[in-house]
Amino acid sequence: MTKRERKPQQQNAALAVGEKTTTADAAREVERLREELAELERVNRLKDQYLSVAAHELSTPLTAIKAYVEALSENWADPSFTQGPEFLGVLQRESTRLIRIVDRTLQISRLTSRSQMVRRSSVDLKRLVHEVSVSLRPVLQERDVDLNVQVAADLPSIDADRDLLEQVLINLLDNAVKFSPAGRTVHLQARVRPNCVEVEVRDHGYGIAPEELKRVFDPYFRSGDERIGCERGTGLGLAIVKTIVEQHGGRVWVVSEIDRGTTFRFSLPQA
Ligand code: ADP
Repeated sequence: MTKRERKPQQQNAALAVGEKTTTADAAREVERLREELAELERVNRLKDQYLSVAAHELSTPLTAIKAYVEALSENWADPSFTQGPEFLGVLQRESTRLIRIVDRTLQISRLTSRSQMVRRSSVDLKRLVHEVSVSLRPVLQERDVDLNVQVAADLPSIDADRDLLEQVLINLLDNAVKFSPAGRTVHLQARVRPNCVEVEVRDHGYGIAPEELKRVFDPYFRSGDERIGCERGTGLGLAIVKTIVEQHGGRVWVVSEIDRGTTFRFSLPQA
């Protein structure tokens, strides 16, 4: 029933209650608005930070693309110029990197502004793990890295967004493979814990220095280690992982030792 449809006695009763509680209600309303304003200011500051870091990240490949296009347009007619294929290769790599940065920036922006809804359903984690490991086979073969999967037989289904969860597994496994030397093994384990399910991705790769460990989930963070810097990447994969896991009511953490390897774990509440 709308306000207009209310019977006169109901309206009077509401007014009487309203009059009695006016001051307390107003104070509560002011407090609510204050909290809302603080939250909006926080989100706004975050957006500004993203924007300035994103602009900086985009300028690196754009500057390279501009320089190589200029070099090509100055030299393409010169018969002694033989670096055309090499320059085109750089252009292809840098533009692919640009697209990856833009895609991931858009994804994290959609996730944090909640315009991408979390669509929950009952997810069979065992099946999802199997599908992800099959889809990663070409990357594993290319990098000569083995994947060892151990999933608890009693793993329950969880209430989650399947596509987002797949993204979490792919980002963590992709890093584990990317930052491991050839010939190593990456381990993926899923186990049942009290009230939650815990997934672990462990590698025996380059590891993360202690001073960098607390920054790995920051957007656009990439290690100063040159073995890692030369791999493709945007520094957004783990920020996406953290956002998705937290949106599911879970948490993610990391332990690592330089040259010994890294273990990422995340937990998700049981359905
Ligand atoms: P990207 O992989 O695109 O660079 P991420 O956000 O996924 O971005 O990771 C951020 C950084 O954290 C990486 O660049 C790397 O320095 C570090 N990192 C992440 N996973 C690992 C890992 N398994 N081993 C070593 N370093 C890692």
